[in-house]
Amino acid sequence: MKTLCGMCPWACGIVVSVENEKVVRIEGDPDHPWNHGKLCPKAAGIIDYVYSPDRIKYPMKKVDGEFKRISWDEALDIMAAELNKIKENYGAKSWAVLEGMSFVCHGFTSMTLLQRFCDAYGSPNFITPESMCYLSRITANMLTLGKFPAADPENSKCIILWGHNPAESNFITAEQIMNARKNGAKLIVIDPRKTSFAKKADIHAQIRPGTDCALC
Ligand code: SF4
Repeated sequence: MKTLCGMCPWACGIVVSVENEKVVRIEGDPDHPWNHGKLCPKAAGIIDYVYSPDRIKYPMKKVDGEFKRISWDEALDIMAAELNKIKENYGAKSWAVLEGMSFVCHGFTSMTLLQRFCDAYGSPNFITPESMCYLSRITANMLTLGKFPAADPENSKCIILWGHNPAESNFITAEQIMNARKNGAKLIVIDPRKTSFAKKADIHAQIRPGTDCALC
């Protein structure tokens, strides 16, 4: 069946083969307009993500060095007691929750629940990568352009990579940039690091860390 990879926000097209109600193979969808059948190594881990014997599917408690399955009620009682102990001894603000890419990967649901949990506990310390990255990017785009446009490097004549190295973070965009380069697009990299794209760029503005605003 055709579906989308949910291991990161790029949602590449995948073809999932199922035999006897079990996923046996994951391949890139050659008809998908974004990844054209290609996948990153994370997609190769999807089957393990579901069937790994080490996957935690229910609450576990370490007893005498061994993890043993416990009920949800017991797990919740233990957690409530420990959380109350932390609050009594160190104050609610000693508690912080750090979530992965909640907004883009799981929608608002988990983010909303965890934020509500922190509020109920009395801690303002809820952190996600969006605290410093994605939401600020959306906000800046909305304020300057009125919407959140997607970049189209493949059809660009001049590409600026500002503190961004898609060779490490987004293999599809990296490939699109390389295709644009073959068609004569100029590449400007603004980055303190000598990334692989910086080495290939027409201009590498190797600014000092923290001086981006001066360059703006
Ligand atoms: S980039 Fe990798 S992890 Fe992300 S959606 Fe595509 S295949 Fe999945």
